[in-house]
Amino acid sequence: MESGTAATGNDVSEAANGAAPAGEPPIEVLNPATGQPIAKVPVDSPAAVAATVARVRANQADWEAMGIEGRYHWLGKLRDWLLDNSDRVLDTMQLETGKVRADASNEPAYLADLINFYGTKAAKFIGEESVRPHSPLMAAKKLRVQYRPHQVVGIISPWNFPLILALGDAIPALQAGAAVVIKPSEFTPLGLAEVVEAWKREIGGPDVLDCVQGTGETGGALVDAVDFIQFTGSDRTGRKVMARAAETLTPVSLELGGKDPMIVLADADIDRAANAAAWGGMMNSGQICMSVERIYVEEPAYDEFVAKLTQEVAGLRQGSDDARSPKDVGAMTSPKQTAIVEDHVNDALASGARALTGGKRVDGPGDYFEPTVLVDVDHSMKVMRDETFGPVVGVMRARDEEEALRLANDSRYGLSGSVFGEKDHAEQIARRVECGAVNVNDVLANYLASDVPMGGWKESGIGYRHGEPGIKKYCRTESVVITRFGGKREPTWYPYTRGRRGLIARLVPFFNARDLKRRLGLRG
Ligand code: NAD
Repeated sequence: MESGTAATGNDVSEAANGAAPAGEPPIEVLNPATGQPIAKVPVDSPAAVAATVARVRANQADWEAMGIEGRYHWLGKLRDWLLDNSDRVLDTMQLETGKVRADASNEPAYLADLINFYGTKAAKFIGEESVRPHSPLMAAKKLRVQYRPHQVVGIISPWNFPLILALGDAIPALQAGAAVVIKPSEFTPLGLAEVVEAWKREIGGPDVLDCVQGTGETGGALVDAVDFIQFTGSDRTGRKVMARAAETLTPVSLELGGKDPMIVLADADIDRAANAAAWGGMMNSGQICMSVERIYVEEPAYDEFVAKLTQEVAGLRQGSDDARSPKDVGAMTSPKQTAIVEDHVNDALASGARALTGGKRVDGPGDYFEPTVLVDVDHSMKVMRDETFGPVVGVMRARDEEEALRLANDSRYGLSGSVFGEKDHAEQIARRVECGAVNVNDVLANYLASDVPMGGWKESGIGYRHGEPGIKKYCRTESVVITRFGGKREPTWYPYTRGRRGLIARLVPFFNARDLKRRLGLRG
């Protein structure tokens, strides 16, 4: 742990070459667009995980000592590599996720921007702070706060954005001075491994960034070995990660699921709202924690909105895409998730909902679910209550804005949301949505505004990504109290003579504001 000591030689030799324990089969990675296997990835044993963490831990102090500018220099090289090699990385990611190119292409660009953001803002966010003492009793002291990184940050990430949700957290951690070990999802281990390999071999970056491969067991071993855990995934797994971290009192930041509502007010631009709902619900096949999943439309706008949304969604082109025949909606990345989507839609249809377009799995090859618009839904149905994480939206009629707001807030999740309407009116309603980030007349836009924090309320998470909290969370604060002048002894030190005791007894009330007010004859 964070004692500054590396693991023992035994730990390292046991885990030589990161070999899997006997009987642990390698991960077989499939291309979800075709169902064909594309790679086998060896699993890292718990001992191998501990050894990797110990190795980067041993290099962390030098990395921290480089300072903010020195670390930005290296992260800048990573940014340039990502931009120069984005086609190569996107090819790998498309293969393992089944995304369409347009959905995949956001990832390197987002990361490049994030490197610049934290590289240029880190001094402001985590630079040393000078604090003026509030009490005259501290007048002889200089007060400073310095931000020291956790030594090793472990990142456990999901499959829906294999780079953004892994490197996007690694970037602020590295910029803060931590070493980082990432465990990507077992469904999408390849793209991240390619970038980490490039950091080591092509960029020649310091040995403070690595990844380990495997399923939940590997993730658990990472929780045990590191000093801070950044987890992104389902709330079910998030609970397990937090419980395991509690055993070693390791701090966690959890970015969990969502069931994001969209409110459409009667005074909205209905074309914009319908187009936004289609994109916000279907982008990345709806496999985004902040996807639009539930839509509440004020009565006067309902019919027009539903007609326009259905038309837009029905016109989306689905399938495996390439440069010659671009598509709008790609495959489902995890077969487990397709089964959940199917279950939610069937549950709704069986309870009286109607699919105005879509509504079922697409026959293979590949793993696809039709872009689906459901109406006649209510909050007794899974599709309006639990996270669907697929290309499905449920639309409900709301009597008025208060009912729309009440329904939007009727969820155990609180990740993000959106409100469409006349600008000032929509903003007023948006401020009352119970979630960590809300967009007015747009969807998903907040994720690109890395200037502002984003973190889930309720069961959507603990902690923040982006903005100042997104880098500060990787640091421990150390307050440094410096004596500017003083004699051989402070008045509070030994010996406790009657005179010294009396001095303190008089000084404390003198500087106590309540007492001053009393002596000046003021109330309160
Ligand atoms: P998941 O919870 O199944 O898995 C996430 C990661 O945890 C994977 O790497 C997995 O191998 C690992 N894991 C599984 N069991 C573990 C254990 N016991 N200990 C440690 N690690 C373990 O999630 P998923 O299916 O990969 O991703 C989809 C979920 O992620 C959705 O709920 C989605 O909303 C959420 N998500 C949240 C955000 C956010 O920022 N809030 C972003 C993207 C995805």
